Amino acid sequence: MSGATKSVFASQALTAEGWKDNVHVSMDTAGRIIAVEPESAADSNAYTVDILLPAQSNLHSHTFQRAMAGLSEARSPAGRDSFWTWREIMYRFLDILGPEDIEAIASFAFVEMLESGYSSVAEFHYVHHQPGGQPYDHLGELSERIAAAASATGIGLTLLPVAYMQGGVDGRALAGGQLRFGNDFERYVELAQLAEKAAKNASVDAGFGVAPHSIRAVNERDLKALEQHFQGMPFHIHIAEQIPEIEEVLAAYGQRSMSWLLDHLPVNERWCLIHSTHMTSEETSRVAASGAVVGLCPITEANLGDGIFNGVNYLNAGGPFGTGSDSNIRISPSEELRQLEYSQRLRDVSRVTLSAAGKSCGRTLYDAALAGGAQALGRESGSLAPGKWADMIGLDVENAALLGLTGDRLLDGWIFAGDRQAVSDVWSAGRHVVHEGRHRDRAAIFATYRTRLASILERV
Ligand SMILES: [Zn+2]
Repeated sequence: MSGATKSVFASQALTAEGWKDNVHVSMDTAGRIIAVEPESAADSNAYTVDILLPAQSNLHSHTFQRAMAGLSEARSPAGRDSFWTWREIMYRFLDILGPEDIEAIASFAFVEMLESGYSSVAEFHYVHHQPGGQPYDHLGELSERIAAAASATGIGLTLLPVAYMQGGVDGRALAGGQLRFGNDFERYVELAQLAEKAAKNASVDAGFGVAPHSIRAVNERDLKALEQHFQGMPFHIHIAEQIPEIEEVLAAYGQRSMSWLLDHLPVNERWCLIHSTHMTSEETSRVAASGAVVGLCPITEANLGDGIFNGVNYLNAGGPFGTGSDSNIRISPSEELRQLEYSQRLRDVSRVTLSAAGKSCGRTLYDAALAGGAQALGRESGSLAPGKWADMIGLDVENAALLGLTGDRLLDGWIFAGDRQAVSDVWSAGRHVVHEGRHRDRAAIFATYRTRLASILERV
Protein backbone atom coordinates (compact mmCIF):
# COMPACT_ATOMS: atom_id res chain seq x y z
CA MET A 1 0.00 0.00 0.00
CA SER A 2 1.41 3.35 -1.00
CA GLY A 3 1.56 6.14 1.54
CA ALA A 4 0.41 9.70 1.24
CA THR A 5 3.19 11.75 -0.31
CA LYS A 6 1.36 14.89 -1.28
CA SER A 7 -1.55 16.84 0.09
CA VAL A 8 -3.51 19.98 -0.62
CA PHE A 9 -5.43 22.22 1.73
CA ALA A 10 -8.33 24.33 0.45
CA SER A 11 -10.36 27.02 2.21
CA GLN A 12 -13.35 25.90 0.11
CA ALA A 13 -13.63 22.69 -1.89
CA LEU A 14 -16.30 21.12 -4.07
CA THR A 15 -16.18 17.56 -2.70
CA ALA A 16 -18.25 14.52 -3.62
CA GLU A 17 -20.54 15.57 -0.72
CA GLY A 18 -20.82 19.16 -1.89
CA TRP A 19 -19.08 22.36 -0.82
CA LYS A 20 -16.94 22.12 2.34
CA ASP A 21 -14.79 24.66 4.15
CA ASN A 22 -11.25 23.82 5.28
CA VAL A 23 -10.60 20.57 3.44
CA HIS A 24 -7.43 18.48 3.26
CA VAL A 25 -6.95 16.21 0.24
CA SER A 26 -4.19 13.60 0.36
CA MET A 27 -2.87 11.59 -2.58
CA ASP A 28 -0.82 8.43 -2.97
CA THR A 29 2.36 8.13 -5.04
CA ALA A 30 0.41 6.94 -8.07
CA GLY A 31 -1.71 10.11 -8.07
CA ARG A 32 -4.97 8.83 -6.64
CA ILE A 33 -6.88 10.57 -3.89
CA ILE A 34 -6.59 8.73 -0.57
CA ALA A 35 -8.67 10.94 1.68
CA VAL A 36 -10.77 14.11 1.67
CA GLU A 37 -10.98 15.29 5.28
CA PRO A 38 -11.86 18.38 7.30
CA GLU A 39 -8.90 20.19 8.76
CA SER A 40 -8.26 23.57 10.30
CA ALA A 41 -6.04 25.91 8.31
CA ALA A 42 -3.71 26.34 11.29
CA ASP A 43 -2.96 22.60 11.46
CA SER A 44 -2.18 22.17 7.81
CA ASN A 45 1.33 21.80 6.39
CA ALA A 46 -0.12 21.02 2.99
CA TYR A 47 0.15 23.05 -0.20
CA THR A 48 -2.65 25.63 0.05
CA VAL A 49 -5.17 26.90 -2.47
CA ASP A 50 -8.19 29.15 -2.02
CA ILE A 51 -10.78 27.08 -3.87
CA LEU A 52 -10.39 23.46 -4.97
CA LEU A 53 -12.52 21.84 -7.68
CA PRO A 54 -12.41 18.52 -9.50
CA ALA A 55 -11.02 19.20 -12.98
CA GLN A 56 -12.88 18.60 -16.22
CA SER A 57 -11.77 16.21 -18.93
CA ASN A 58 -11.52 17.69 -22.41
CA LEU A 59 -13.39 15.00 -24.35
CA HIS A 60 -12.58 16.05 -27.92
CA SER A 61 -9.47 17.62 -29.42
CA HIS A 62 -7.52 17.72 -32.68
CA THR A 63 -4.40 19.41 -31.34
CA PHE A 64 -2.77 20.22 -34.70
CA GLN A 65 -5.64 22.61 -35.47
CA ARG A 66 -4.44 24.88 -32.63
CA ALA A 67 -1.83 26.29 -35.00
CA MET A 68 -4.55 27.24 -37.55
CA ALA A 69 -6.04 29.88 -35.26
CA GLY A 70 -6.25 33.12 -37.24
CA LEU A 71 -5.75 31.44 -40.63
CA SER A 72 -9.35 30.78 -41.56
CA GLU A 73 -11.23 33.95 -40.66
CA ALA A 74 -11.03 35.86 -43.97
CA ARG A 75 -14.09 35.72 -46.22
CA SER A 76 -13.34 33.61 -49.29
CA PRO A 77 -13.70 35.26 -52.72
CA ALA A 78 -16.02 32.46 -53.86
CA GLY A 79 -18.89 33.60 -51.65
CA ARG A 80 -20.46 31.86 -48.70
CA ASP A 81 -18.09 30.32 -46.17
CA SER A 82 -19.05 27.22 -44.24
CA PHE A 83 -17.69 24.25 -42.38
CA TRP A 84 -16.87 22.74 -45.78
CA THR A 85 -14.77 25.71 -46.99
CA TRP A 86 -13.01 25.68 -43.59
CA ARG A 87 -12.33 21.97 -44.06
CA GLU A 88 -10.50 22.68 -47.33
CA ILE A 89 -8.25 25.19 -45.52
CA MET A 90 -7.69 22.62 -42.74
CA TYR A 91 -6.76 19.86 -45.24
CA ARG A 92 -4.22 22.14 -46.95
CA PHE A 93 -2.80 23.12 -43.58
CA LEU A 94 -2.34 19.61 -42.22
CA ASP A 95 -0.64 18.56 -45.44
CA ILE A 96 2.42 20.70 -44.59
CA LEU A 97 2.90 19.38 -41.05
CA GLY A 98 5.72 17.00 -40.17
CA PRO A 99 6.14 14.91 -37.00
CA GLU A 100 8.13 17.64 -35.17
CA ASP A 101 5.44 20.20 -35.99
CA ILE A 102 2.68 17.90 -34.74
CA GLU A 103 4.48 17.18 -31.47
CA ALA A 104 5.31 20.86 -30.84
CA ILE A 105 1.73 21.99 -31.50
CA ALA A 106 0.30 19.20 -29.34
CA SER A 107 2.66 20.05 -26.48
CA PHE A 108 1.68 23.71 -26.51
CA ALA A 109 -2.04 22.93 -26.84
CA PHE A 110 -1.76 20.57 -23.86
CA VAL A 111 -0.07 23.35 -21.84
CA GLU A 112 -2.97 25.68 -22.67
CA MET A 113 -5.51 22.99 -21.75
CA LEU A 114 -3.86 22.49 -18.37
CA GLU A 115 -3.51 26.22 -17.67
CA SER A 116 -7.17 26.79 -18.50
CA GLY A 117 -8.37 24.07 -16.11
CA TYR A 118 -8.54 20.75 -17.93
CA SER A 119 -6.57 17.87 -16.35
CA SER A 120 -7.02 15.35 -19.13
CA VAL A 121 -7.86 15.10 -22.81
CA ALA A 122 -9.23 12.65 -25.36
CA GLU A 123 -7.14 13.29 -28.46
CA PHE A 124 -9.15 12.32 -31.56
CA HIS A 125 -6.02 11.66 -33.56
CA TYR A 126 -6.50 11.24 -37.28
CA VAL A 127 -3.31 12.32 -39.07
CA HIS A 128 -1.38 9.05 -39.26
CA HIS A 129 0.70 9.06 -42.46
CA GLN A 130 3.01 11.20 -44.58
CA PRO A 131 1.56 13.74 -47.03
CA GLY A 132 0.27 11.71 -49.97
CA GLY A 133 -0.63 8.77 -47.72
CA GLN A 134 2.62 6.79 -47.49
CA PRO A 135 2.96 5.44 -43.92
CA TYR A 136 6.00 6.51 -41.93
CA ASP A 137 8.73 3.89 -41.51
CA HIS A 138 7.21 3.34 -38.10
CA LEU A 139 3.42 3.07 -38.51
CA GLY A 140 2.79 4.51 -35.04
CA GLU A 141 5.09 7.54 -35.50
CA LEU A 142 2.46 10.26 -35.05
CA SER A 143 0.60 8.47 -32.26
CA GLU A 144 3.92 8.36 -30.42
CA ARG A 145 4.35 12.11 -31.01
CA ILE A 146 0.99 12.79 -29.33
CA ALA A 147 1.87 10.48 -26.44
CA ALA A 148 5.26 12.19 -26.07
CA ALA A 149 3.54 15.58 -25.86
CA ALA A 150 1.22 14.25 -23.16
CA SER A 151 4.13 12.80 -21.24
CA ALA A 152 6.13 16.03 -21.46
CA THR A 153 3.26 18.21 -20.26
CA GLY A 154 1.77 15.84 -17.69
CA ILE A 155 -1.77 15.95 -19.09
CA GLY A 156 -3.85 12.79 -18.64
CA LEU A 157 -4.21 11.36 -22.15
CA THR A 158 -6.88 9.11 -23.59
CA LEU A 159 -5.56 8.47 -27.09
CA LEU A 160 -8.18 7.79 -29.76
CA PRO A 161 -6.56 6.76 -33.05
CA VAL A 162 -9.10 7.51 -35.77
CA ALA A 163 -10.33 5.05 -38.39
CA TYR A 164 -10.89 6.85 -41.70
CA MET A 165 -11.51 4.55 -44.63
CA GLN A 166 -13.47 6.33 -47.36
CA GLY A 167 -14.15 9.83 -48.66
CA GLY A 168 -17.95 9.70 -48.38
CA VAL A 169 -20.96 7.48 -47.74
CA ASP A 170 -20.86 6.37 -51.40
CA GLY A 171 -17.50 4.68 -50.73
CA ARG A 172 -15.45 7.11 -52.82
CA ALA A 173 -11.67 6.98 -52.40
CA LEU A 174 -9.82 9.32 -50.06
CA ALA A 175 -8.35 12.38 -51.77
CA GLY A 176 -6.02 15.28 -51.01
CA GLY A 177 -5.40 15.89 -47.32
CA GLN A 178 -7.50 12.83 -46.41
CA LEU A 179 -4.76 10.53 -47.74
CA ARG A 180 -2.87 11.06 -44.48
CA PHE A 181 -5.81 9.57 -42.51
CA GLY A 182 -6.49 6.36 -44.38
CA ASN A 183 -6.18 2.73 -43.25
CA ASP A 184 -8.02 -0.43 -44.16
CA PHE A 185 -9.33 -2.50 -41.25
CA GLU A 186 -6.23 -4.68 -40.85
CA ARG A 187 -3.77 -1.80 -40.87
CA TYR A 188 -6.00 0.16 -38.51
CA VAL A 189 -5.88 -2.69 -35.98
CA GLU A 190 -2.09 -2.76 -36.27
CA LEU A 191 -1.88 1.00 -35.80
CA ALA A 192 -4.29 0.92 -32.85
CA GLN A 193 -2.06 -1.58 -31.04
CA LEU A 194 0.92 0.74 -31.49
CA ALA A 195 -1.12 3.74 -30.34
CA GLU A 196 -2.34 1.91 -27.24
CA LYS A 197 1.23 0.98 -26.34
CA ALA A 198 2.39 4.58 -26.84
CA ALA A 199 -0.45 5.92 -24.66
CA LYS A 200 0.19 3.43 -21.88
CA ASN A 201 3.88 4.37 -21.90
CA ALA A 202 3.01 8.06 -21.50
CA SER A 203 1.78 7.80 -17.92
CA VAL A 204 0.20 5.38 -15.46
CA ASP A 205 -3.22 7.04 -15.79
CA ALA A 206 -3.31 7.19 -19.61
CA GLY A 207 -6.15 5.55 -21.47
CA PHE A 208 -6.98 4.35 -24.93
CA GLY A 209 -10.06 4.14 -27.11
CA VAL A 210 -11.23 3.87 -30.69
CA ALA A 211 -12.68 6.52 -32.96
CA PRO A 212 -14.33 5.79 -36.29
CA HIS A 213 -14.24 9.32 -37.72
CA SER A 214 -17.87 9.45 -38.89
CA ILE A 215 -20.54 7.55 -40.80
CA ARG A 216 -19.17 9.27 -43.90
CA ALA A 217 -15.66 7.90 -43.38
CA VAL A 218 -16.40 4.32 -42.21
CA ASN A 219 -18.94 2.05 -43.86
CA GLU A 220 -21.48 -0.11 -42.01
CA ARG A 221 -19.44 -3.32 -42.21
CA ASP A 222 -16.26 -1.73 -40.85
CA LEU A 223 -18.13 0.24 -38.18
CA LYS A 224 -19.65 -2.97 -36.87
CA ALA A 225 -16.31 -4.77 -37.08
CA LEU A 226 -14.58 -2.00 -35.08
CA GLU A 227 -17.31 -2.09 -32.45
CA GLN A 228 -16.87 -5.86 -32.12
CA HIS A 229 -13.08 -5.93 -32.21
CA PHE A 230 -12.53 -3.20 -29.61
CA GLN A 231 -14.96 -4.24 -26.90
CA GLY A 232 -15.28 -2.37 -23.62
CA MET A 233 -13.26 0.73 -24.41
CA PRO A 234 -14.22 4.32 -25.21
CA PHE A 235 -15.76 4.56 -28.69
CA HIS A 236 -16.04 8.08 -30.16
CA ILE A 237 -17.59 9.25 -33.44
CA HIS A 238 -18.42 12.60 -35.06
CA ILE A 239 -22.13 12.74 -35.83
CA ALA A 240 -24.89 15.14 -36.91
CA GLU A 241 -22.62 18.19 -36.94
CA GLN A 242 -23.71 19.49 -40.32
CA ILE A 243 -26.98 19.39 -42.30
CA PRO A 244 -25.24 18.29 -45.56
CA GLU A 245 -23.77 15.30 -43.70
CA ILE A 246 -27.23 14.28 -42.49
CA GLU A 247 -28.61 14.70 -46.02
CA GLU A 248 -25.79 12.57 -47.47
CA VAL A 249 -26.57 9.73 -45.06
CA LEU A 250 -30.33 10.12 -45.62
CA ALA A 251 -29.86 9.81 -49.40
CA ALA A 252 -27.61 6.74 -49.13
CA TYR A 253 -29.09 4.85 -46.15
CA GLY A 254 -32.67 6.18 -46.08
CA GLN A 255 -32.29 7.55 -42.54
CA ARG A 256 -30.83 10.59 -40.82
CA SER A 257 -27.34 9.85 -39.48
CA MET A 258 -28.26 9.72 -35.77
CA SER A 259 -31.33 7.53 -36.33
CA TRP A 260 -29.33 5.22 -38.55
CA LEU A 261 -26.57 4.90 -35.92
CA LEU A 262 -29.04 4.19 -33.10
CA ASP A 263 -30.81 1.56 -35.22
CA HIS A 264 -27.67 -0.23 -36.45
CA LEU A 265 -25.09 -0.08 -33.64
CA PRO A 266 -25.36 -0.86 -29.90
CA VAL A 267 -24.91 2.75 -28.72
CA ASN A 268 -24.32 2.67 -24.96
CA GLU A 269 -22.23 4.08 -22.10
CA ARG A 270 -18.89 3.64 -23.85
CA TRP A 271 -19.96 5.78 -26.79
CA CYS A 272 -19.24 9.48 -27.14
CA LEU A 273 -21.32 11.17 -29.84
CA ILE A 274 -19.34 14.24 -30.87
CA HIS A 275 -21.47 17.31 -31.73
CA SER A 276 -24.96 15.76 -32.16
CA THR A 277 -25.93 19.28 -33.16
CA HIS A 278 -28.86 18.52 -35.41
CA MET A 279 -31.23 16.00 -33.83
CA THR A 280 -34.99 15.54 -34.10
CA SER A 281 -37.00 15.41 -30.85
CA GLU A 282 -37.15 11.63 -31.12
CA GLU A 283 -33.38 11.36 -31.68
CA THR A 284 -32.78 13.66 -28.70
CA SER A 285 -34.84 11.41 -26.41
CA ARG A 286 -33.24 8.24 -27.74
CA VAL A 287 -29.68 9.52 -27.29
CA ALA A 288 -30.48 10.77 -23.77
CA ALA A 289 -31.76 7.29 -22.88
CA SER A 290 -28.87 5.40 -24.54
CA GLY A 291 -26.31 6.08 -21.81
CA ALA A 292 -23.90 7.59 -24.37
CA VAL A 293 -22.23 10.93 -23.66
CA VAL A 294 -22.84 13.76 -26.13
CA GLY A 295 -19.54 15.53 -26.80
CA LEU A 296 -20.30 19.23 -27.14
CA CYS A 297 -17.69 21.65 -28.47
CA PRO A 298 -19.61 24.94 -28.26
CA ILE A 299 -16.76 27.33 -29.12
CA THR A 300 -15.70 25.36 -32.20
CA GLU A 301 -19.33 24.75 -33.21
CA ALA A 302 -19.90 28.53 -33.06
CA ASN A 303 -16.68 29.23 -34.96
CA LEU A 304 -17.61 26.75 -37.71
CA GLY A 305 -21.24 27.85 -37.92
CA ASP A 306 -22.50 24.34 -37.19
CA GLY A 307 -25.79 25.27 -35.54
CA ILE A 308 -27.21 25.18 -32.02
CA PHE A 309 -27.45 21.98 -29.99
CA ASN A 310 -30.83 21.43 -28.38
CA GLY A 311 -29.47 21.55 -24.86
CA VAL A 312 -32.71 22.39 -23.09
CA ASN A 313 -34.60 19.32 -24.31
CA TYR A 314 -31.56 17.06 -24.00
CA LEU A 315 -30.82 18.03 -20.39
CA ASN A 316 -34.52 17.84 -19.49
CA ALA A 317 -34.41 14.25 -20.76
CA GLY A 318 -31.46 13.55 -18.44
CA GLY A 319 -28.88 13.23 -21.21
CA PRO A 320 -25.19 13.19 -20.21
CA PHE A 321 -22.73 15.55 -21.89
CA GLY A 322 -19.16 16.79 -21.65
CA THR A 323 -17.21 19.45 -23.48
CA GLY A 324 -14.30 19.40 -25.89
CA SER A 325 -12.01 22.04 -27.34
CA ASP A 326 -12.15 20.34 -30.79
CA SER A 327 -10.41 22.78 -33.21
CA ASN A 328 -8.66 24.50 -30.28
CA ILE A 329 -9.42 27.93 -31.77
CA ARG A 330 -9.83 28.91 -28.10
CA ILE A 331 -9.04 26.59 -25.19
CA SER A 332 -11.07 27.15 -22.02
CA PRO A 333 -13.43 24.79 -20.18
CA SER A 334 -15.26 27.64 -18.43
CA GLU A 335 -15.84 29.44 -21.73
CA GLU A 336 -17.16 26.26 -23.41
CA LEU A 337 -19.88 26.03 -20.76
CA ARG A 338 -20.66 29.73 -21.11
CA GLN A 339 -20.98 29.41 -24.88
CA LEU A 340 -23.29 26.41 -24.46
CA GLU A 341 -25.64 28.28 -22.13
CA TYR A 342 -25.52 31.48 -24.22
CA SER A 343 -26.43 29.59 -27.40
CA GLN A 344 -29.66 28.48 -25.71
CA ARG A 345 -30.40 31.99 -24.34
CA LEU A 346 -29.96 33.59 -27.77
CA ARG A 347 -32.18 31.01 -29.49
CA ASP A 348 -34.91 31.00 -26.84
CA VAL A 349 -34.79 34.72 -25.91
CA SER A 350 -34.54 33.58 -22.32
CA ARG A 351 -32.13 33.42 -19.37
CA VAL A 352 -30.68 30.64 -17.19
CA THR A 353 -31.94 27.87 -19.46
CA LEU A 354 -29.96 24.74 -18.56
CA SER A 355 -30.44 24.45 -14.79
CA ALA A 356 -33.44 23.24 -12.85
CA ALA A 357 -35.61 25.79 -11.00
CA GLY A 358 -33.74 27.33 -8.10
CA LYS A 359 -30.41 25.76 -9.10
CA SER A 360 -27.17 27.47 -10.08
CA CYS A 361 -26.54 27.28 -13.81
CA GLY A 362 -22.76 27.19 -13.34
CA ARG A 363 -22.96 24.33 -10.86
CA THR A 364 -25.39 22.37 -13.04
CA LEU A 365 -23.17 22.69 -16.11
CA TYR A 366 -19.93 21.99 -14.23
CA ASP A 367 -21.27 18.87 -12.49
CA ALA A 368 -22.60 17.49 -15.77
CA ALA A 369 -19.38 18.20 -17.67
CA LEU A 370 -17.28 16.57 -14.92
CA ALA A 371 -19.29 13.35 -15.07
CA GLY A 372 -19.67 13.26 -18.85
CA GLY A 373 -16.02 14.04 -19.50
CA ALA A 374 -14.76 11.33 -17.16
CA GLN A 375 -17.15 8.78 -18.67
CA ALA A 376 -16.15 9.65 -22.23
CA LEU A 377 -12.43 9.26 -21.45
CA GLY A 378 -12.95 6.07 -19.44
CA ARG A 379 -11.08 7.91 -16.68
CA GLU A 380 -11.64 7.44 -12.94
CA SER A 381 -11.95 11.13 -12.18
CA GLY A 382 -14.51 13.91 -12.01
CA SER A 383 -14.92 14.18 -8.25
CA LEU A 384 -12.86 14.78 -5.12
CA ALA A 385 -13.33 11.34 -3.60
CA PRO A 386 -11.01 8.56 -2.41
CA GLY A 387 -9.94 6.22 -5.21
CA LYS A 388 -10.29 8.79 -8.00
CA TRP A 389 -7.30 10.23 -9.84
CA ALA A 390 -6.31 13.53 -8.23
CA ASP A 391 -7.46 15.66 -11.20
CA MET A 392 -7.98 19.00 -9.48
CA ILE A 393 -7.81 22.72 -10.05
CA GLY A 394 -7.29 25.61 -7.70
CA LEU A 395 -9.07 28.91 -8.28
CA ASP A 396 -7.75 32.25 -7.06
CA VAL A 397 -10.23 33.92 -4.74
CA GLU A 398 -8.63 37.29 -5.51
CA ASN A 399 -9.52 36.99 -9.19
CA ALA A 400 -11.97 39.78 -10.03
CA ALA A 401 -14.57 37.34 -11.39
CA LEU A 402 -14.71 35.50 -8.05
CA LEU A 403 -14.36 38.28 -5.49
CA GLY A 404 -16.72 37.89 -2.56
CA LEU A 405 -18.40 34.75 -3.93
CA THR A 406 -18.85 31.41 -2.17
CA GLY A 407 -20.24 27.97 -3.03
CA ASP A 408 -22.10 27.55 -6.32
CA ARG A 409 -21.77 31.26 -7.05
CA LEU A 410 -18.03 30.70 -7.49
CA LEU A 411 -18.85 28.49 -10.47
CA ASP A 412 -21.34 31.05 -11.78
CA GLY A 413 -18.64 33.72 -11.44
CA TRP A 414 -15.92 31.67 -13.11
CA ILE A 415 -18.08 30.42 -15.98
CA PHE A 416 -19.94 33.62 -16.80
CA ALA A 417 -17.38 36.31 -15.85
CA GLY A 418 -14.01 34.58 -15.70
CA ASP A 419 -11.49 32.71 -17.78
CA ARG A 420 -8.19 30.87 -17.38
CA GLN A 421 -6.73 33.73 -15.32
CA ALA A 422 -8.83 32.54 -12.39
CA VAL A 423 -7.01 29.18 -12.42
CA SER A 424 -4.06 29.19 -10.02
CA ASP A 425 -3.15 25.48 -9.87
CA VAL A 426 -3.79 22.26 -11.75
CA TRP A 427 -3.06 18.67 -10.84
CA SER A 428 -3.41 15.77 -13.28
CA ALA A 429 -3.37 12.40 -11.52
CA GLY A 430 -1.52 14.13 -8.70
CA ARG A 431 1.06 15.79 -10.99
CA HIS A 432 1.19 19.45 -9.96
CA VAL A 433 1.70 20.85 -13.44
CA VAL A 434 0.29 24.39 -13.12
CA HIS A 435 1.37 26.73 -10.31
CA GLU A 436 0.46 30.44 -10.04
CA GLY A 437 -1.38 30.09 -13.34
CA ARG A 438 1.61 28.87 -15.35
CA HIS A 439 2.58 25.43 -16.55
CA ARG A 440 5.87 24.27 -15.02
CA ASP A 441 7.53 24.04 -18.48
CA ARG A 442 5.63 26.79 -20.29
CA ALA A 443 8.73 28.78 -21.27
CA ALA A 444 10.54 25.91 -23.00
CA ILE A 445 7.41 24.47 -24.65
CA PHE A 446 6.33 27.90 -25.87
CA ALA A 447 9.81 28.61 -27.28
CA THR A 448 9.71 25.37 -29.30
CA TYR A 449 6.16 26.09 -30.46
CA ARG A 450 7.09 29.61 -31.57
CA THR A 451 10.00 28.32 -33.64
CA ARG A 452 7.96 25.56 -35.26
CA LEU A 453 5.02 27.87 -35.92
CA ALA A 454 7.25 30.41 -37.69
CA SER A 455 8.49 27.61 -39.93
CA ILE A 456 4.95 26.34 -40.56
CA LEU A 457 3.65 29.80 -41.47
CA GLU A 458 6.43 30.15 -44.05
CA ARG A 459 5.10 27.00 -45.70
CA VAL A 460 1.38 27.88 -45.63
ZN1 LIG B 1 -13.73 16.93 -34.22
